[in-house]
Amino acid sequence: MVKAVVGANWGDEGKGKITDMLAEKADIIVRYQGGANAGHTIVNDYGKFALHTLPSGVFYNHTTSVIGNGVALNIPILFDEIKSITDRNVPMPKILVSDRAQIVMPYHILFDQYEEERLGGKSFGSTKSGIAPFYSDKYAKIGFQVNELFDDELLKEKIDRVVVQKNIILEHLYHKPLIDKEELLNTLHEYRDMVAPYVCDTATFLENAIKEGKTILLEGQLGTLKDTDHGIYPMVTSSSTLAAYGAIGAGIAPYEIKEVITVCKAYSSAVGAGAFVSEIFGDEADELRRRGGDGGEFGATTGRPRRMGWFDCVASKYGCRLQGATDVAFTVLDVLGYLDEIPVCVAYDVDGEITTDFPVTHKLEKAKPIIEKLPGWKCDIRGIKKYEDLPENCRKYVEFVEEKIGYPITMVSNGPGRDDIIYRESKLK
Ligand code: GDP
Repeated sequence: MVKAVVGANWGDEGKGKITDMLAEKADIIVRYQGGANAGHTIVNDYGKFALHTLPSGVFYNHTTSVIGNGVALNIPILFDEIKSITDRNVPMPKILVSDRAQIVMPYHILFDQYEEERLGGKSFGSTKSGIAPFYSDKYAKIGFQVNELFDDELLKEKIDRVVVQKNIILEHLYHKPLIDKEELLNTLHEYRDMVAPYVCDTATFLENAIKEGKTILLEGQLGTLKDTDHGIYPMVTSSSTLAAYGAIGAGIAPYEIKEVITVCKAYSSAVGAGAFVSEIFGDEADELRRRGGDGGEFGATTGRPRRMGWFDCVASKYGCRLQGATDVAFTVLDVLGYLDEIPVCVAYDVDGEITTDFPVTHKLEKAKPIIEKLPGWKCDIRGIKKYEDLPENCRKYVEFVEEKIGYPITMVSNGPGRDDIIYRESKLK
């Protein structure tokens, strides 16, 4: 049984918490795309952790964590992250790294920084983790797969070939120091020795696990609106954030994904540049940012303050549709308890035309939010375990959103902890 846990919005919806929670009853958790450019924050019995590359199942003894072939693998960051959890008494997790995963090279990170510098004010708001140069090289077929680390002759030949091109760009476009081939080879040898104990054919491992009836979670990074094809291009990430890509990035059959748990936050937040129709500013935004998430809406990887906005039904309906949501997990609802009235973006006005369909980017940039206000519930809903026990206005908010997005909200998250979850029957399911 394979389930995907993915984001409907811009990321930071609380996928880490939902994955960590579902991992209790899962055998294997797989990361299938993206790299260390975003993070999940997880609060559990060991404390509070920010994970970037490790799947959110590493805190259990019974799970295996897989870094799939679709991931942008930054080997030193992976090992720093393993150390950061084992240093805090988490038992060493079982980790498998796909032999087909590609490696984030030191020069990818430099190229990311140099390109942002070159673009100045017109930059894409990259986290400078090397992700765009990494995926560019992957599709230009000059990336390095993990298995290639174990063939020295191949490695040297490839370094010779790739470095010629990189150094021309470094010298003539960026005017920066050139790559030293010997140094690069040494670095890759270090990477090889670090990763060697974990490398395997993870697609075959997963195939066997599916046959044995194991429960597998595919953990997505970011959300629909950051998908390369379906997101707010070009202010997107360089890999697909959709559940469908889980089949590719993990190496399993698409029909094995039986559930797509799409995580949707009860308000909006986004990092980086790009159209954000329901965005709010000033004191209103500061207050939501300060109260948001678990200790404020600041990036898990970058610490950057996130841009804030009200719940966007247009973007979320689209986000759930492209994911193929079978279930919606509606998160961080507790945070809205301070508001007298809760504004919700229910439609867009694009040049006088009212729409509930998410438009292409250049039209999205012109969209103005149509806001409806729902009454608040003015109390703390943390600790509530049953849907019926939520205040009436809170239930009305959930039901209003469900009707607007058209996908079943079967889970409501009312706190950052594993147990802060309310299951709910939905008439849409
Ligand atoms: P992800 O990238 O989708 O995993 O999201 P992040 O982990 O970066 O951001 C979600 C933040 O919200 C984290 O700080 C979580 O601990 C926190 N969080 C998740 N669910 C809830 C919830 O229901 N209520 C509150 N207050 N915080 C939550």
